[in-house]
Amino acid sequence: MEDNFCRQINYLRIAITDRCNLRCRYCMPATGVPLKSHEDILRLEEIVTLARAAGSTGINRIRLTGGEPLVRKNVVTLVRELAKLPAIKEVSLTTNGIFLGSLAGALKEAGLSRVNISLDTLKKERYRYITRRGNLNSVWQGIRVALAAGLTPVKINVVVTRGFNDDEILDFARLAIEEPLHIRFIELMPIGAAAASAGGYVPMDEIKSRVERVYHLEPLADLATNGPAVNFKVAGGQGSIGFISAMSSHFCHRCNRLRLTADGKLRPCLYWDGEIDVKGPLRAGASEAELAAIFARAVSLKPAEHHMETGWRQTRVMSQIGG
Ligand code: SAM
Ligand code: SF4
Repeated sequence: MEDNFCRQINYLRIAITDRCNLRCRYCMPATGVPLKSHEDILRLEEIVTLARAAGSTGINRIRLTGGEPLVRKNVVTLVRELAKLPAIKEVSLTTNGIFLGSLAGALKEAGLSRVNISLDTLKKERYRYITRRGNLNSVWQGIRVALAAGLTPVKINVVVTRGFNDDEILDFARLAIEEPLHIRFIELMPIGAAAASAGGYVPMDEIKSRVERVYHLEPLADLATNGPAVNFKVAGGQGSIGFISAMSSHFCHRCNRLRLTADGKLRPCLYWDGEIDVKGPLRAGASEAELAAIFARAVSLKPAEHHMETGWRQTRVMSQIGG
């Protein structure tokens, strides 16, 4: 479906839970966030009904996120049901990777196409610090099993924070050469817990030039499902390197997405708090056509671009929106 700015909207990010097993410092406060009651969270069959309605409006790719999608019970069943929908060509997932080692095989078998794994450091102690509790070995186990299961391309999301992990930019670049991994550097966005430390972001031009001082980057046109990243290959490398500059240079003109929160609100833009309730109508018995009309309204409300530079005045944090 086309929005008011001639963009084709075909991608839906669904936060399937607001819960998480980690507490990444830029995403959540140490104490977590007040969780919605189970009754407030969309049930799995409701997510499937909404995805079917979305499919009838032109959505053909779905990404499951959260919170941590792999803490949701029966996530494999959900993937299986979503992958069966005729309109949906691809179901993917963004995860912190901790539980991927035990679930990757079943997810692949259920129809999951690929995974993005969030990993901001290659150092064990630093990983525990940023996540406040995570074990880096579990993430590596998850990465290995995801690769072996064929959940490819496996992309690694690296949020770069000045003075914290910007000394590892070249280590991640090397990883893209030595392993079949697609590293995507992401600018820290002033959302939720990170809003107070917005100054910590490193502009993408700076990250790219630090990589280019050591490696020759060749533009890559056709890594399927690029999304907002601008991608490059390093000669002889197995993977690729992508740059996502949400802050320093808008990619809003290429935006193709809607977001569905775990509590059933459609969000036309990550950085805009205008939300449209779809759970209420669904529970009140709306037909598939009526639900599709709500999706169409959300598409028509998409703003031309975000205004992150004006600051974050919302109560939601990233784990409630899904990244
Ligand atoms: N728990 C899953 C994970 O960490 O991959 C999925 C949800 S998480 C909210 C989705 C993505 O948002 C992660 O890659 C995370 O690093 C990113 N993220 C969270 N807060 C961010 C911020 N303030 N700026 C940029 N990216 C952020
Ligand atoms: Fe959890 Fe993902 Fe947020 Fe980290 S970034 S706290 S793993 S939702």
